[in-house]
Amino acid sequence: MRIGFIGLGAMGWHMAGHLTQLDATVMVWNRTKSKAEAHAAQFGTISVDLDLLVQADFIFSCLPTSSEVEAILSAHPPKSGSIWIDCTSGIPFSAQQLSQSLKRQGVEFLDAPVSGQTIGAENATLTVMVGGHQPAFERARPVIQAFAGVIEHVGESGSGFAVKAVNNILMAANLWALSEGLSVLKVRGVSLDAALACINHSSGKSSMSETVMPQKIMSRCFNKTFALNLLQKDIGIALDLIAETGQQGSLLHCVQQLYNQIDRQTAEHIDFSAAIQVLEQYNQVLLN
Ligand code: NDP
Repeated sequence: MRIGFIGLGAMGWHMAGHLTQLDATVMVWNRTKSKAEAHAAQFGTISVDLDLLVQADFIFSCLPTSSEVEAILSAHPPKSGSIWIDCTSGIPFSAQQLSQSLKRQGVEFLDAPVSGQTIGAENATLTVMVGGHQPAFERARPVIQAFAGVIEHVGESGSGFAVKAVNNILMAANLWALSEGLSVLKVRGVSLDAALACINHSSGKSSMSETVMPQKIMSRCFNKTFALNLLQKDIGIALDLIAETGQQGSLLHCVQQLYNQIDRQTAEHIDFSAAIQVLEQYNQVLLN
């Protein structure tokens, strides 16, 4: 079995590394080639050109957006009989189109975005939400298992990307709401450590209160593991879905306005948790 992995970024680096546990040859490609060579040295993968990589039986991609995936796919068509597993947090409509056009070439396309942050990628505990044809999913499942804690087939093509976009807008809403709540408590003289100790054993808890708030914001570390511009992209995908389906989305529209206060260029270089500094500046209250 040959497996290819495209995109050795914060997530892909670890995900591709876990694939070496399988009884397979693992080929990697990265735009910055030195990273692929470093990956090969660290994990025993093979750094190859894209033309060779797309001859694999299973091809993973983990790139910033659907447009980078589309560009690579159109220039480097995969071999017939292969399955392309796109772990990018992408656009549902793009998945549907790619799935249809690749089927004509005998290639299956699964949208398989992941959740669990870089620590989940490192520990192989990612949640993988897969859209696409069930038989292709069943074939790909044992390979995806190498980096997954939970794998769920959520529906036809594009459904995985849709679930991921909704998940991430909920994450953004949770983080902002938590920050507004803690800001009020701090002004009232409550210790934020004590407040979080209660919330994290109560109904208001979320992964934002359990990990991101204490580890990134209250510690003032804001270490970049998930760029804010990628979260802004996910929020945009979720709102496009709301618009396409004609659903009510007033709360979620507010979430977009709050996170778009930082421009995309700046957002590319900072962690998503740093968006909360806008609130801190407005309130003149540091969440520490
Ligand atoms: P990174 O920015 O760390 O990595 C992006 C990767 O894409 C790099 O390998 C980069 O190559 C490559 N790349 C960028 N532009 C191009 C291009 N034009 N052509 C080819 N390759 C390109 O991103 P992440 O790993 O954080 O995110 C990847 C995907 O996973 C995104 O869709 C994100 O939303 C999603 N995600 C991220 C999570 C996180 O916590 N970071 C969690 C869950 C999902 P190069 O090294 O040359 O820059």
